[in-house]
Amino acid sequence: MNDEQLLRYSRHILLDEIGIEGQEKLLASHALIIGAGGLGSPVALYLGSAGVGRITIVDHDRVDATNLQRQIAHNLARIGEFKAESVRQSVAAINPDVKVIPVTERADDTLLDKLVQEADLVLDCTDNFATRHAINRACVRNRKPLVSGAAIRFDGQVSVYDARNAQSPCYACIFPESDSLEETACATMGVFAPLVGIVGTVQAAEALKLLCGIGQPLTGRLLLLDGRGMEWNEMKLARNIGCTVCGTP
Ligand SMILES: [Zn+2]
Repeated sequence: MNDEQLLRYSRHILLDEIGIEGQEKLLASHALIIGAGGLGSPVALYLGSAGVGRITIVDHDRVDATNLQRQIAHNLARIGEFKAESVRQSVAAINPDVKVIPVTERADDTLLDKLVQEADLVLDCTDNFATRHAINRACVRNRKPLVSGAAIRFDGQVSVYDARNAQSPCYACIFPESDSLEETACATMGVFAPLVGIVGTVQAAEALKLLCGIGQPLTGRLLLLDGRGMEWNEMKLARNIGCTVCGTP
C-alpha cells in the first residue's frame, strides 16, 4: 500500500480485525455484483469506497426516472445510460483504486458460470426468482460464497449461502426451484426507499467480512426485516439433503 492508500483506508486499518493485512486482502479481491439497482447501488458504493480491488457489475437495464427514488448510485444526468456503466462512474468518482467492470448483458447461465468462476464472492442484488436461482446454481457449481439480499415494500431479507462450507444450505435449499412462487413484478411494486439501502448495506458488510475472513458471517441464518415496525428477526437455516441443486444425486 502506498501513503495515499494508508490514509484513504486508515479507518479500516485502525480496526484490529482488519488492519493492513485485511485491507490488502480487500484490494486483492474480486466481487461480482448481479443487479445495479436499489440493492446493487449501496453494495457497489460501499465495496468501492472500502477498496475491493475489482468489482464486476452485471445489469442489462438502463437508468430511468423511477429508479432515482432509491437507486442511489445513479443520477439525473445518467437517465438513459446503462445502470452498470452509471455505477462504474459513481465508484470511479470515489475511489481510483477500484476497477469496476460493467457488464450490460442479461445474466443467463452461460454468462453467470463464466463470471462466478472469476470472482471471489457473489452478491445477488436482483429482483426476480429465475435469476436468483441461476446465480445460486452457478455459485454451488463453482463453490463461491453468495451474499443474497431481497427487498420489497417494507420487507427485507439477507443471508449468506456458502458452498465452500458443507453445513451451509444453498438458496434452493430454502426456496426450492419447484415452488411455483408467484413472480412479483418488482418493476411495478412499491419499495420504501431506504429499505434497499438497509438491506444492501448489510450485504456489503457481509461481503467485506467474508473477503477479510473476519467475524461471524450470516451463513445458515436468514435475517428478516419488517421495516414498518423496524423489527429484525433471525431464522436458522439448515441444508436440505434432497435439494436439487446442492444435494448429492
Ligand atoms: Zn441446496
